[in-house]
Amino acid sequence: MQILIVEDSPTLRAGMKAHVIGIGHTPFFAETGEQALQMIEVQQFDLVIMDVEMPGLDGFETTTLMREALGDRWVPIIFATSHTDDKSILAGIAAGGDDYLIKPVTRGFLQAKIMAMQRIAEMHHQLNLLNIQLEERSETDSLTNLLNRRAFNDKATQSLLEGRRHSKASSLIMLDVDHFKQYNDAYGHTEGDHCLKMIADSIKAVPRRESDIVARYGGEEFVVFLPETDQSGAITVSQSIIEAINAEQYPHRNSPTSNHVTVSIGIATTTMEVTESLEGLVRQADKNLYRAKNNGRNQLVFRDENSHKTILIADDNPTNLLLLTKIFQPLGNIVTTENASECLQMARELSPDLIMMDKDRGIIASERTSAELNNNLRTARIPIVYLSKEKDSDAKADDCLCIAIPLNGEKLRDQVELFLDRV
Ligand code: GH3
Ligand code: MG
Ligand code: MG
Ligand code: MG
Repeated sequence: MQILIVEDSPTLRAGMKAHVIGIGHTPFFAETGEQALQMIEVQQFDLVIMDVEMPGLDGFETTTLMREALGDRWVPIIFATSHTDDKSILAGIAAGGDDYLIKPVTRGFLQAKIMAMQRIAEMHHQLNLLNIQLEERSETDSLTNLLNRRAFNDKATQSLLEGRRHSKASSLIMLDVDHFKQYNDAYGHTEGDHCLKMIADSIKAVPRRESDIVARYGGEEFVVFLPETDQSGAITVSQSIIEAINAEQYPHRNSPTSNHVTVSIGIATTTMEVTESLEGLVRQADKNLYRAKNNGRNQLVFRDENSHKTILIADDNPTNLLLLTKIFQPLGNIVTTENASECLQMARELSPDLIMMDKDRGIIASERTSAELNNNLRTARIPIVYLSKEKDSDAKADDCLCIAIPLNGEKLRDQVELFLDRV
């Protein structure tokens, strides 16, 4: 076992060291309570032997703080003290200690206490393992009594397959509580849990079909799978959920959105042409949820990804063009060009939803290209994204965005997608 010995006296430390090594364990040392608290942050110990009288934090104070820092992880703590009166022993156990040793500590005595603690620690360990197994087998979330994520994934996948067999569209609603971190900060975690129960109850109370699948997806996120339900059906259900939660008027004094608890919802619906997987639906709903957050929260967003955009990318480096095409393909039709005059011509003919150009390269990203785009009626209103290695560029207008590269592909796409939503 790795044993942390917290002891301010060098003589007693040396004695303990000899004992612990003699019994066959590995000793570590802290000379103060403060040092012990630092050590448990970075290292796991199997047992702590704690001196009671120390300058600075005493053993009892250190133990209280240590229990807080360890949270759910139980580590046996044994006091070493020369005070054997009832009161101080009681105070030690009350502070979170598990046993005590009387100084001077003899090797046999120490060995007996360590063995006893080792036995309890092993039982704790077994209990934890059983709890984890139990949780793994369970289908419900203990706080809300809704299905948990794993059960949801199984059941919704099954239902999705059935819907596909009957060529029926299905929808997925993903819900996230707004500013929930601030809720916990204002009212505490226990109140936060009550709030989550309220949300779960409100979702359950919205009248729906027997076959709908409601679950807690994790943390403050909930999902509802609606078999044989098209987009407009999903919108109706989502509106009812948002209204039901708003009707609760559950106070949230720290929310920048409202004076009560609100939620945002993203909706995804399967399309007949595409055989979507549950992951695909979740991804789509999650994207729309992000948009709902971005648009001001307390709302639903259902945009489907089939509203393809046309994006014109101009860059005189063919390798860059290939890379950018790959990154932005999911957003729509990509058209590329390596030179400025072609860029202008294509912009006039295609009226793309967006033009993207490299700001650092002479030929294309020149201000002249932008100026000419601006001067033509057909192209003046097309939003432009500049890619630049410079962080802060002079792109100030509402209809243009300057992105500093390098940025990973997905982040780049997300930024451009949000920009497209906005313009
Ligand atoms: P946003 O409006 O953007 O969703 O803001 P937010 O604060 O809700 O988002 P964020 O994801 O940053 O924070 C979610 C918070 O939810 C953080 C976490 O402490 C809290 N939370 C997650 N699960 C639980 C839980 O089971 N109980 C409680 N009380 N809080 C939880
Ligand atoms: Mg001491
Ligand atoms: Mg969240
Ligand atoms: Mg949230």
